Amino acid sequence: MITLEKVNKFFGHNHVLKDIDLTVKTGEKLVVIGPSGSGKSTMIRCMNLLERPNSGRVIVDGVDITSPNAPVNQIRQSAAMVFQQFNLYPHKTVLENLTLAPILVKGVRKEEAEETGMAFLERVGLKEKASAYPAQLSGGQQQRVAIARALNMHPKIMLFDEPTSALDPEMINEVLDVMVDLANEGITMVVVTHEMGFARRVADRVIFMDEGQIMEQGTPEHFFLNPEHDRTKLFLSRIL
Ligand code: ADP
Ligand code: MG
Repeated sequence: MITLEKVNKFFGHNHVLKDIDLTVKTGEKLVVIGPSGSGKSTMIRCMNLLERPNSGRVIVDGVDITSPNAPVNQIRQSAAMVFQQFNLYPHKTVLENLTLAPILVKGVRKEEAEETGMAFLERVGLKEKASAYPAQLSGGQQQRVAIARALNMHPKIMLFDEPTSALDPEMINEVLDVMVDLANEGITMVVVTHEMGFARRVADRVIFMDEGQIMEQGTPEHFFLNPEHDRTKLFLSRIL
C-alpha cells in the first residue's frame, strides 16, 4: 500500500531522512517510535505529500506520489492524517467539521456527507456532540472528532502523528480505544506514538527511527523482549 524507496529529505543542510526504504502492506498496522527530531513526522508527512522528498520515490496505492504530475488532492484523500494538535475548524460545528472536506473536495452531496458523518461520530462515541463547537469539547473528544473527520473522507490509509501527545493522561485511552477499534477493521495504519501498550495491542510491526534512519524493526514483542541496538534499549528505557 505504501512504498518508500531511498527517500532523502533535507531541510537546508539538515539531512533529516537518509535513504529510507520501507514497505507497508495493505491492512498492516505500523507503529513508528524514536527520539524527538529523528524524522518520524517528516517521514509520515512524505506519505501524503505534506512534505516532498528531495530524492527517492514514494508509492501509495500504486501511484508514484513523488512524480511531478501526481494528483495531490486525490493522494491526500486516500491517506488521511490525524495530528497531535487536532486542527478542527473552531467556528464550525462538529458535524460541519466532518462534512466540509467531503463536500468541497470530493463533491459529496451534503445529505450523504452528513449521514456518513453521523455514523462515524457514533463510532467514536460522539453522536450527541454533532451540533457542539470544538471549544465545548475536551481534548480527547476533539481528537476523536478529528479521527471521525478523517474517516469521513473514506481514506485507504490512516496516518497518525503522535495523536495522544497533547492530551491529558486521563483522555489518552479514549482516543487509543477508538484507534484500536479502527485497527480491528482492517484499514492500513501508520502511527507515530510512544504508547507501547497500544503498539502491543495492534502493531504488526514497530520501527525505531534514529537520526533519519530506520535503526531497527520487529514485532512489539521483539522491542519488549530483546531489542538489538543500544540506542533502541536506551530509548525504550526512557519511555517504558
Ligand atoms: P520527529 O517527528 O521525529 O520529532 P521531525 O521529522 O519533526 O522529527 O524533525 C526531524 C528534523 O527535521 C529535526 O531536526 C527538525 O528540526 C527538522 N525539521 C522538521 N520540519 C522542519 C521544517 N519544516 N523546516 C526545517 N526543519 C524541519
Ligand atoms: Mg514529530
